Amino acid sequence: MEEVKRVLLIATTTGYQIRSFGEAAAKLGVRLVFASDRCDQLEDPWWDQAIPVRFHEPALSVEAIAAAFAGTRLDGILAVGDRPAMLAAAVAQAVALPGNPPDAAFRSRNKLASREAMRDAGLPVPFFEPVAMDADAQAMGGRISYPAVVKPLALSGSRGVMRVDTPGEFVATFDRLRRLLQSPDVRLERDEAHDMAMIESFIPGREFAVEGLLDRGALRVLAIFDKPDPLDGPFFEETIYVTPSRAPDAIQRQIEDAVAAAVSALGLHHGPVHAECRVDGHTVYVLEVAARPIGGLCSKALRFSGQRAAGSGQGATAASLEELLLRHAIGEDISTFERERAASGVMMIPIPQRGVFRGVERVEEARAVPGVEEIQITAKPDATLVPLPEGKSYLGFIFARSGEPEEVERSLREAHARLRFKIEKEIPLASSFGSFESFESF
Ligand code: ADP
Ligand code: CA
Repeated sequence: MEEVKRVLLIATTTGYQIRSFGEAAAKLGVRLVFASDRCDQLEDPWWDQAIPVRFHEPALSVEAIAAAFAGTRLDGILAVGDRPAMLAAAVAQAVALPGNPPDAAFRSRNKLASREAMRDAGLPVPFFEPVAMDADAQAMGGRISYPAVVKPLALSGSRGVMRVDTPGEFVATFDRLRRLLQSPDVRLERDEAHDMAMIESFIPGREFAVEGLLDRGALRVLAIFDKPDPLDGPFFEETIYVTPSRAPDAIQRQIEDAVAAAVSALGLHHGPVHAECRVDGHTVYVLEVAARPIGGLCSKALRFSGQRAAGSGQGATAASLEELLLRHAIGEDISTFERERAASGVMMIPIPQRGVFRGVERVEEARAVPGVEEIQITAKPDATLVPLPEGKSYLGFIFARSGEPEEVERSLREAHARLRFKIEKEIPLASSFGSFESFESF
């Protein structure tokens, strides 16, 4: 009897993408072993043997994982999220499985190290300069050219990324980033990258995202997404992703080449990558290449079909991105898999303003828009919503599929326009303190 394959899945979250990997594992008869810093929050019986890890203690975490697999075979490693991707690289090295070299995973995660690697490889990069968070912002602001972008080195989802147009604005913006990097949830990461920030020149142009899969150094592009909303700042909230891209073929080839060059400059080697780039005229600037798949629910926008492996039935089979990645992780040849024919897209519904979330109306009307497949509101009722640049979540997601990408974009926009979000002003802390006694007497 063939032994069951075991794949290690490292994650910080316990949401949709993890369940999707779980479903794919059940389908393929693969045994997933979960490593997380959230083991206490796991419910599913799936994860009965979850390995507790701490991302700020990589050496101990690698040891814990290696000990958990002592005597049993490990066939593949997958990671969901930026910090898990770093740990996955260390584990791959420790157990001699194909993966990313740890220093490449570090370069990919750290925006300054990424820029340096791309510059040293002769790739197009904006002007960039690191700056310590305790630097003299006034002096710095007087020295640089505008428009510029100020950004943290190791956050994600555009959190803390801000455009600045004048030296006057610079001081306030830098101060805002300083406060964000001192907030409890960022400090909890205990990452020294948060002691620094980067200043870059602003790159004009359109933006694209690339979902890819590296197989021992060779990049396969799975999808190019257009981001049809202009991203000109001051904050850079992602909204709509649509694939296939409507950019001219020549530009799409250039994007693929630029991502491949960036991947090799960073030294990434094996596994999923999610890249973002901006195209200014004929120059493709790769903003970043993350050594992980597209995050969370967004991966639902991707579906693949391929031929079944010999011996497991005939004909085509449909696969989620997670299934594709799992097949790849156990060493299957996935070259017959291609993205579906349909155009597909997702809208990450941005948080329009700070306040207390009281729900959404007209969801049914929005769902009725032709092409719309699904609307998921992920914000929790009565939660305090925080928009960018400080926030790190969306209100929810809209998914659409159709024959053509322009139809998908239209459906997403129309559905979003129909939704009515109820967000109440927060009661300022001071007055809620003041009314504390009367509140108690209710
Ligand atoms: P994160 O990892 O948080 O997503 P990025 O470096 O990818 O950070 O930046 C987030 C967004 O900010 C980008 O998708 C882009 O829209 C914008 N951005 C970042 N750097 C620049 C730049 N130098 N010029 C123009 N826009 C930028
Ligand atoms: Ca990004």
